[in-house]
Amino acid sequence: MTQFNQPLGGNDMPRFGGPATMMRLPSQATAAGLNVAFVGIPMDHGTSNRPGTRLGPRQIRDESRMLRPFNMATGAAPFEHLQVADIGDVPINTFDLKKTVDIIADFHRSILGHGAIPLTLGGDHTLTWPILRAMKERHGPVALIHVDAHADINDTMFGEKVAHGCPFRRAWEEGCLINDKVFQIGLRGTGYSPDDFDWGRKQGWTVVQAEECWHKSLKPLMETVRAKIGDAPCYLSYDIDSLDPAFAPGTGTVEPGGLTIWQGLEIVRGCAGLNIVGGDLVEVSPPYDPSGNTALIGANLLYEMLCILPGVPQRKV
Ligand code: MN
Ligand code: MN
Repeated sequence: MTQFNQPLGGNDMPRFGGPATMMRLPSQATAAGLNVAFVGIPMDHGTSNRPGTRLGPRQIRDESRMLRPFNMATGAAPFEHLQVADIGDVPINTFDLKKTVDIIADFHRSILGHGAIPLTLGGDHTLTWPILRAMKERHGPVALIHVDAHADINDTMFGEKVAHGCPFRRAWEEGCLINDKVFQIGLRGTGYSPDDFDWGRKQGWTVVQAEECWHKSLKPLMETVRAKIGDAPCYLSYDIDSLDPAFAPGTGTVEPGGLTIWQGLEIVRGCAGLNIVGGDLVEVSPPYDPSGNTALIGANLLYEMLCILPGVPQRKV
């Protein structure tokens, strides 16, 4: 038996029982001693349309209960190489979004201070800005792989600087990003003007709209992404609404014509070899997810993120 924490197995406790943690891992109060910390942020007061992502972390944890430790596709065995636990939720202020942003930044400073990599369960996309702020303090500006139906680069929404459509504009303003190593993948739908997507391009970002992804494997795209990012510290932010609503309807701002699940898997698996310093999975809204499948896909993508972290060998294919 390895010295590392293991998910509670389905032959030791039925899958529908046991602790309601991510992958039924042990829980602990801080990231002390961990290589990787799963952490939830139960918030939806940054959303602009359907609410409900405050319930996302609990539902993702619940739907993670069937995840087994070994990745049959990539050969990754993360629990043989990393100490992982679920450190619970960030105690956000549900009545004050601006205070919440500061609470999230502080919480992630603490995780990074322990030398752990945060994998964050959202929650609406507002949360990525304070995480990137903490990342910059720890690592300097980071490369970014942002998978989403939306660019999330609005200067303001309803006159407010803090909202789930603004996080990457705020991160850019604060110098958190290496602009020629920013990739936005899956953007689509209706906009106010071409600048909705071109603003990032003007900053040197690479914007890959959903139509460019249709009908093909994204492995070649990820080869390009890896070559351009090199060994720079890299953050992965995955908005579940990047997937087509046929696969992931349980989210707040749905856009048709999105990525497939297998493309989402190719993107995350294609991050193997990068110096990933953190990741998040955001915008799962359980009230719009009656089957639980959107949360289940989110849980699987978080597991796939764990599988590509530095120190986890991949099988040669
Ligand atoms: Mn988003
Ligand atoms: Mn989105």
